[in-house]
Amino acid sequence: MTRYYVALGSNMGDRLAYLRAGVRGMSALGLEVAALSSVYETAPWGNTDQAAFLNAVAAVDSTLSPRGVLLRLQAVETHAGRRRDIHWGPRTLDLDLLYADGVGWHDAVLTLPHPYFWERGFVLVPLAEVAPDLTYQGESVQARAADRTDGVRRVARRWLQSVDE
Ligand code: AMP
Repeated sequence: MTRYYVALGSNMGDRLAYLRAGVRGMSALGLEVAALSSVYETAPWGNTDQAAFLNAVAAVDSTLSPRGVLLRLQAVETHAGRRRDIHWGPRTLDLDLLYADGVGWHDAVLTLPHPYFWERGFVLVPLAEVAPDLTYQGESVQARAADRTDGVRRVARRWLQSVDE
């Protein structure tokens, strides 16, 4: 069993409903959701001329390979109505595979750790909640996140009572 960390993001429509659909979709496809961070509202990155995002991180357990997990995440995104027309543009639901302990991967469709997982506050702040003991390149996620809290505002602590509800 491998523990994977997945970033969830939405900046279109009923953003919280899309995040919830993301969690339920992962669960429905056999990815075991072991922990969920709070939900944070964050300013858009990349193309900044768009609505603010809601972001969260899930700890997910699976016996699948990283590619197998990614395929399922993409199926959940598609089911949630994700359109891929604008690069870094608005999205109903974005699911990124961030990190898995001791797992490295690089090919045409998947890079793990995700290239930006150790850079962005909207990833690091929720990640520190679900993986408080995580260290990477000699630095703790807690310290890393504490330096990157600008523009990352907690909006909901308990936003899903149960993935089965
Ligand atoms: P995005 O539009 O930002 O969600 O990027 C999606 C594309 O990034 C897909 O074509 C994936 O194959 C690719 N990709 C590469 N590494 C990852 C990763 N760690 N998690 C999610 N998507 C990835």
